[in-house]
Amino acid sequence: MADIDCVVLGAGVVGLAIARSLAQQGRDVLIVEAEDQFGTGISARNSEVLHAGIYYPANSLKARLCIEGKALLYAHCREYGIAHRQTGKLIVATSANPLDKLKALARQAEQNGVQDLQWLSGEQAKALEPELQCTAALWSPSTGIIDSHGLMLSLLGDAQHKGAQVVFRTPLTHGDLLNSGLFRLSFGGESPTTLTARNVINATGLHAPDIATRLPWQTQHPMPKAWYCKGTYFGLQGRSPFSRLIYPMPDIAGLGIHLTLDLAGQARFGPDTEWVDTIDYRLDPGRGAAFYAAVRQYWPNLPDDALVPAYTGIRPKIVPPGAPAADFVIAGPETHGVKGLLHLLGIESPGLTASLAIAHRVCRQPETRTLT
Ligand SMILES: Cc1cc2nc3c(=O)[nH]c(=O)nc-3n(C[C@H](O)[C@H](O)[C@H](O)COP(=O)(O)OP(=O)(O)OC[C@H]3O[C@@H](n4cnc5c(N)ncnc54)[C@H](O)[C@@H]3O)c2cc1C
Repeated sequence: MADIDCVVLGAGVVGLAIARSLAQQGRDVLIVEAEDQFGTGISARNSEVLHAGIYYPANSLKARLCIEGKALLYAHCREYGIAHRQTGKLIVATSANPLDKLKALARQAEQNGVQDLQWLSGEQAKALEPELQCTAALWSPSTGIIDSHGLMLSLLGDAQHKGAQVVFRTPLTHGDLLNSGLFRLSFGGESPTTLTARNVINATGLHAPDIATRLPWQTQHPMPKAWYCKGTYFGLQGRSPFSRLIYPMPDIAGLGIHLTLDLAGQARFGPDTEWVDTIDYRLDPGRGAAFYAAVRQYWPNLPDDALVPAYTGIRPKIVPPGAPAADFVIAGPETHGVKGLLHLLGIESPGLTASLAIAHRVCRQPETRTLT
């Protein structure tokens, strides 16, 4: 008999959402986290935006799980009293962001089933946000912001309430498949240990491709490789003149240097894109110079010296620089040939928005349920 039914590796928003769903189904769940607390990885270093589902290819997991996840998350926030605000967002065409690109984005959103976008002229957008300069804008009323730490706390609390356990400072080092079909997992940290499990879910974010190499993989299907794309944020000193989120057009690796607000109304700009070889969150203040030019395309009155270094995050890419963005990968036995094993790979934006829908897909939909 296995020590544990389901081991969830990683206590970020995705691992916690999956652990909660499994525990709610009455399953025996252990969450294993390498760090000394939950939510210190990608989930702590993002824009905290509840995305509407606009940008992603039609029918992709990103599009479907973002739209489904947004509805689930707003309902979850209301039910659990998690701080959030449906700010709405304006995606703007400027002299650098031509109108035809914005029109293409509107068509993409329509194909994805985003029904609530409104087309605004430059004057209409300026009437909403007097400091904004643009030739036209797409208004997305269902975009919002969320307290991601509060969300993760609620997911962990719910999971524990249903009997899930969590251990910290316990990094998985490797896992073998026993003849019985169970996994024998080995963990490092201060007290190295092993345990057996019937099911293993790899939700280790930036580390997920590496962790996949440490677990059985029985097919010739290529294993995704990790690529890291860092994003730096700068905060705005003083009051924000905007009360809605402002986005330029997306670029190949990110959504462009946009303006987001925190729940206190403070504005920050970012993230930019910088391909890096290692996971290093140190911030280079020199990157700020390029922010002034990018932001002034839609906010020409940004004062000199108004930006201060804030923080960085790293996107868990599974394709190299220059390649079109990959979809989320939820790799089960059809990919690697091992029953009871799931890898969550390339869960970049909109992974926070999609987290509850990802958990739903992993745990509840019979056609995709691959856990034993
Ligand atoms: C710059 C940036 C901006 C973003 N903005 C948004 C946004 O506005 N809206 C949105 O919806 N999404 C956004 N995202 C995406 C979103 O943040 C991620 O999709 C989501 O947080 C991923 O969560 P996760 O649980 O997969 O990863 P993580 O939060 O990184 O969790 C993985 C966990 O696994 C642990 N771990 C690692 N190795 C091991 C091991 N060996 N054993 C055990 N545990 C291990 C880590 O310590 C970590 O706690 C953004 C991402 C980035 C990088």
